[in-house]
Amino acid sequence: MSSFLKIALRNLFKSPTTDPYPFGETFVPKGLRGKAKYNAGACIACRMCEHVCAGGAIQIREVADKSGLEFILWHNTCTFCGLCEYYCPTKAIRLTEDYHTAHRQEDKYRYVEKGFIKYVNCAGCGTPMVPISPELLQRAYENVNKEIEILRHLCPKCRQKRALR
Ligand code: SF4
Ligand code: SF4
Repeated sequence: MSSFLKIALRNLFKSPTTDPYPFGETFVPKGLRGKAKYNAGACIACRMCEHVCAGGAIQIREVADKSGLEFILWHNTCTFCGLCEYYCPTKAIRLTEDYHTAHRQEDKYRYVEKGFIKYVNCAGCGTPMVPISPELLQRAYENVNKEIEILRHLCPKCRQKRALR
């Protein structure tokens, strides 16, 4: 019997050596850079992610009624470089280990990660502003005292006035 036949016969009684993906789950290496996930509650709209995005996949823009900012990330354009996560000061954007990126061609413009940051009004003058996220406060101050708590509800101009007083 030729060696080829021997191998073929032996393999007939062996279980598959490859994973059943896409019909079943497969192994995910630790630290895999998969689909990005966005948390609007932690975002301070600094736009750093938009600035560093290698693929130009991120856009942050004010919505038509001026009630806040819309965050959009096109998964199709993302190159999984991880720069957005690295530079995000509050870790509002992270790369997950989700590698499921297959989708229909007609869904390509819907294949996005979206979020909305609603403006809040300044407690001093009422000007709409991006809320200061608790993640930023945690990062900037060890202890958030009463004064910082007051300042976080003020726009930059009112903060300046209060500091001068
Ligand atoms: S991983 Fe890279 S390409 Fe993808 S959204 Fe973040 S910065 Fe852009
Ligand atoms: S996701 Fe992070 S880097 Fe991007 S705008 Fe929000 S806070 Fe800034």
